Amino acid sequence: MKILLIEDDLVIGRALLTVFKDEGHQVLWLRSANGVLERLLDEDFDAVLLDLGLPDGDGNDLLLRIRNAGSMVPVLIITARDGLNHRLKGFNNGADDYLIKPFEIPELLVRLRAILRRSGSQSEAEVLWTSGDLVLEEKRMRVTWEGAPVTLSKTEFGLLLALMKQSHRVLTRAELERRVLPFSDGSTLDVHISNLRKKIGDGHICTVRGVGYMMKQREKSI
Ligand code: CA
Repeated sequence: MKILLIEDDLVIGRALLTVFKDEGHQVLWLRSANGVLERLLDEDFDAVLLDLGLPDGDGNDLLLRIRNAGSMVPVLIITARDGLNHRLKGFNNGADDYLIKPFEIPELLVRLRAILRRSGSQSEAEVLWTSGDLVLEEKRMRVTWEGAPVTLSKTEFGLLLALMKQSHRVLTRAELERRVLPFSDGSTLDVHISNLRKKIGDGHICTVRGVGYMMKQREKSI
């Protein structure tokens, strides 16, 4: 599971990071509201842990912006604000659950699993992304083109997955680089796209000149 942790407290943040990593989860830890919305719209997270008292703003305002931007990611508020009004405000703004600090880790994990179960995002089912005769199996990290398996590098797979998941829009060069370059061997985005096109055929990825790339079509099924 991929978790976005928004918490400015170093002690709590480090403790949660350790717990989640021990549980086998992937965690992105941000210590302020700045940049959260961008990351959320950019990447797919299974859950968000949101502290309310952030150095550059109120977590409740951030939550409202997240929901107004159309993100339905499960959000668990973790805060020391325990008044009923605070809790109601959190739920009204779109929180899935609310946990008062200090809390015990087992309770946090149980609540997290519960909101994931409710949202259905912890489905064991494989997720297929298709574009014409191209099929990508996200969890198995497999791609077939015209029924035949295609061997992609990790970077190429990441690029293709990002494009297929958001095939309704253009992904900018900056967005793609931010996602893919951490795994990159130093070569440029264009080289990876070019290699990808050689492997999956020319007709799937369009170049949007001066902006980035996008898929020609998408269909999602589970
Ligand atoms: Ca705080």
